[in-house]
This record gives sequence, C-alpha cells and structure tokens, in this order.
Amino acid sequence: PFDVLIVGGGPAGAAAAVYAARKGIRTGVASERFGGQVLDTLGIENFISIKETEGPKFAHALEEHVRDYDVDIMNLQRAKALVPGNDLIEVQLESGASLKSKSIIISTGARWRNINVPGEHEFKNKGVAYCPHCDGPLFKGKRVAVIGGGNSGVEAAIDLAGIVGHVTLIEFDTALRADAVLQRKLKSLKNVDVFTNAQTTEITGDQKVNGLVYKDRATGELKKVELEGVFIQIGLVPNTDWLKGVVELTKHGEIVVDARGQTSVPGVFAAGDVTTVPFKQIIIAAGDGAKAALGAFDHLIRTSAP
Ligand code: FAD
Repeated sequence: PFDVLIVGGGPAGAAAAVYAARKGIRTGVASERFGGQVLDTLGIENFISIKETEGPKFAHALEEHVRDYDVDIMNLQRAKALVPGNDLIEVQLESGASLKSKSIIISTGARWRNINVPGEHEFKNKGVAYCPHCDGPLFKGKRVAVIGGGNSGVEAAIDLAGIVGHVTLIEFDTALRADAVLQRKLKSLKNVDVFTNAQTTEITGDQKVNGLVYKDRATGELKKVELEGVFIQIGLVPNTDWLKGVVELTKHGEIVVDARGQTSVPGVFAAGDVTTVPFKQIIIAAGDGAKAALGAFDHLIRTSAP
C-alpha cells in the first residue's frame, strides 16, 4: 500500500507528489490526464518566476519534476469510487483495479461548463475564453462579451471593464443573479452594456472571433454584437461525481476542506480546483497541493505505528 496516494495529476497533484516524496514516504499519483487543465491552456503568464510559457510545456515540466522523485505515476487511470477504511483507504479505478493507501489526496480539479453553441469549440483560445484572470489582458482595449449573469459573470465583467475597451454582458434569464453590490458596481461602469432575457445562439468568426449572435427571448429577434472576445462564465464544475455521499461536498459539488486540506473523512485530504479554496488558478492549486501533502504527512506521523 501507499503512504500517500494522490488522485489527479494537475498542478495540485504534482505539487503534492513532490512534497510527499521529499518526506521519503511511499507516494503514488493516479490520474486520467497528467497535466490537467493546463494541457488545454495556450499561454500562461501568471505563474510567478516563469514570465511566459505554454500550457503543454508547463504540463510536461510538472511531470518531469515529479519523475525526478521516487513516485509511482499511474497515467490514464480514472477513479470511480473511494472506500474509507480503518487503516487503509481504497480507491477503485474504472479499469477494475484498486489501490490502497494510508492517506489520500484528491486533486481531480474542475472543468468550465460549456455553452454548447456553434463557434464555442472552433474558437477556443481564438477569442473564446473562460478565465478573466488568465486571458483578460489579451483583450486590452478590445470589445468582449461575458456570457452569464451570476456572481462569476458579473465579477468577470467588472474586472474586464477595467482592461478592455467595451464589455457586453449577456444573461439568459430575465434578471441578473449576482449579489446586489456587484450589480450596483456593474451599473456604474460606462463601458458595459447588459442584455437580459438573451440567449446566445452562436459565436461567429473567421480565423478568430468577430462576433456573437443572441436571441432576444421576448421578441424572438436575433441580434448580432461585433466583438473580439467572448468569456463564458456559466459555472465551474468540480470533478467530484465519484465522491458523492462519501466525502462532504458543498451544494456546488466542491470538497469541503479545512486549512490543512483535511476533508470530512479522516486521512483523506484534497487540494486545488476540486475544493472550496477560492480563486481557481495554477499557482493557488500548486500551493494548495503542497499544503495538503504536508497535512497528510502530519496525519501519518500521528496515526501510523512507528
Ligand atoms: P486540474 O488541472 O483540473 O487537474 C485535475 C487532474 O485530475 C487531471 O490530471 C485530471 O485528468 C485528473 N482527474 C479528474 N478526474 C479524475 C478521476 N475521476 N480519476 C483520476 N483522475 C482524474 N490558471 C492560471 O493560473 N493561469 C492561466 O493562464 C490559466 N489559464 C487557463 C486556461 C484554460 C483554458 C483553463 C481551462 C484553465 C486555466 N487556468 C489558468 C486555471 C488552471 O488551469 C487551474 O486552476 C489548475 O489547472 C487547477 O489545478 P488542479 O490540479 O486543481 O486541477
């Protein structure tokens, strides 16, 4: 059995693996896609000490760093169930295999919810974006839309309005759902238009995004907005389906963790985008993975027989 078994090989899982292995304990990482969301990222400019890099390159560097240590890396493995136990906790894999460990770190990350309209997929990283903190500066002075009028959409619109030339916020419902204080702030901004009761039907473009079409749901009329970027903010979905009923989750499906990354199940820790830790970013997930590994190590020295 492992001392620490990490499920998920994104920035959080990779950092946890390095920190655990450096304690000289038996460490394994099982993941579906080593690198995680970073593999889908074009440019990264906000990982401190690396001024500029590309997602796949960064993902490769994560794996190289982990391979420098005595870590059992199990790629293309998808976990389907977690079975808590007294001494050993079990992780069952889709492949039918099962892994046992004295402690577990869950770092299965999250995924942005897609809007599934024509153009979204074609223009990903060519004007279609999901993360204002990451990609906002690429649209400096340009026109963008934000789709989604919940807290994250309205926060994104406020954030982007300070960088880009103009923001169009599009909400499907008849009213925004964001907190009143955010809505007040949004209304005070001169370079923001808000359309409610509006259904995005298409993102248009040639090589890159050049516009967006929405349907005015009151009249049924189709309207076109010319712009260079579209930020989709209709939710971030944590990859926790396999943990329901076993580990405490919030109503949004995030794993509830304490300051050390401990979950509701003794010996089970979690880190990164899959947890309640706010602000989903690479550097935050990596720091969080390091913290969970130290949390798990601390748990082991208190509970394992000498
Ligand atoms: P993830 O990166 O999501 O990794 C999750 C890991 O778990 C993967 O290995 C996955 O295969 C695995 N996994 C999932 N489910 C299972 C399962 N059931 N069994 C086994 N393995 C599983 N952040 C920045 O800081 N800067 C940026 O410029 C930036 N740009 C981004 C651009 C895009 C397009 C996207 C999508 C995100 C971007 N982010 C950026 C956010 C950043 O990528 C995430 O915050 C970060 O990757 C989170 O790391 P994580 O390790 O928590 O999870």
